[in-house]
Amino acid sequence: MAWSREETIGRDEMRRIQLGKLQKTVAYVYGKNAVYRKMLDERKVKPEDIRSLDDIRKLPFTVKQDIRDQYPFGLFTASMEDIVEFHATSGTTGKPVVVPYTRNDVELWTEVMARACTGAGITNKDIVQNIYGYGLFTGGLGTHYGAIRVGATVLPMSGGNSQRQIMLMQDLGSTVVTATPSFLMHLHEVGLQMGVDFKKLKLKTGLFGAEPWSESMRQAIQEKFGLKACDMYGLTEMIGPGVSFECHEVRDGLHVNEDFFYPEVIHPETCEPLPFGEEGELALTTIGNEGMPLLRYRTRDITRLNPAPCACGRTLVRMDRISGRTDDMLIIRGVNFFPSQIESIILKRQGVSPHYMVVVDRQGSMDEVEVRIEVTEDFMAKAGGDVLKGSGQEILKNVATARQKIENLRRDIKDMIGITAKVTLVPPGTIPRSEGKARRVEDKRPKGIRTGRS
Ligand SMILES: [Zn+2]
Repeated sequence: MAWSREETIGRDEMRRIQLGKLQKTVAYVYGKNAVYRKMLDERKVKPEDIRSLDDIRKLPFTVKQDIRDQYPFGLFTASMEDIVEFHATSGTTGKPVVVPYTRNDVELWTEVMARACTGAGITNKDIVQNIYGYGLFTGGLGTHYGAIRVGATVLPMSGGNSQRQIMLMQDLGSTVVTATPSFLMHLHEVGLQMGVDFKKLKLKTGLFGAEPWSESMRQAIQEKFGLKACDMYGLTEMIGPGVSFECHEVRDGLHVNEDFFYPEVIHPETCEPLPFGEEGELALTTIGNEGMPLLRYRTRDITRLNPAPCACGRTLVRMDRISGRTDDMLIIRGVNFFPSQIESIILKRQGVSPHYMVVVDRQGSMDEVEVRIEVTEDFMAKAGGDVLKGSGQEILKNVATARQKIENLRRDIKDMIGITAKVTLVPPGTIPRSEGKARRVEDKRPKGIRTGRS
């Protein structure tokens, strides 16, 4: 059962609603905000030029840097008298993104989160232990508003304090837990030390998000806690959680609340909108926000859209679980791939270590890819035993076993990713180590053509 009528309407009616709201949004930002007016004037677009949903292509994209450039109030379209709440991103890489909410924005947020809660099967009979952080982070309050709207009893725990979390979970009989998957796994470890069997508690549902998580993580959580785990997606720039959610009945893609957040999947390089079913970068336009609407905001998240109605009865378009971020993606001769794909190839082969570097360069008009992979100490010793002189590099170039290994890796990469790469084996310890996030890519191409990366 869906929470609201709009979740089950036909595609034609949805498109009519979306067009009306898009036209209203463009007129609203044009009339209210000088930055937006300038942006649209530069592209010679007037609000009345938006006559069909396809006309969204006339609008400019916005990126995180556009919001940062206007920090903190430049993109606001509501006056402070009408703003009732602020939230913000963590801002680990610079100034945070501060998002203002009017009363109507809080109402919108409550509505989309009520849909997400209903999607997860939460009702007025449930006790929701909300472990998302309360504060500037949107997870806590967003979930709080939605759970109250469906009539559930909220236990506003916020994060941390594992032992107390477990005690109250037992004593009050929480039936739903909402948290990041990684915190729940941590809670399980603490519970084990306390001698708690989570499967014997009353938990039946979990609503998870705020970080990427895999199907295998879902299986692990369900087994350890004896609950059904549902995914939800959102981002502070849009409103917080509630952009899309899984239904507990089917759990095959996340239903996008597309009457509030208009989704497009675009080619990260050309920015051309892609047809349904093709993978690319998710761009979202808010078609209901008052405080700080955003036009075609590039999320950098990789997904694809599926318009087929779901067996749960909802007709909202579905998006795949996020498969990666464009920040990490490379586009080589039109083929997209993530360095992590190279990692999985290397891990399957003997004699090479997971220390590698992808070097991309452009020769004329062609992108050239070289994958440098370290061999293990053991492999090196054996190779060196055959040839007594020369540097490690020369040994690896000349020894027959190394040449065979290079050929195998080259074929693996071609089979899996579809690009022909030059594979170079390098001696152990020669790829620079990093204490933080490993640096896997050296892109020597001119900046303009390596799109999707900043
Ligand atoms: Zn569904």
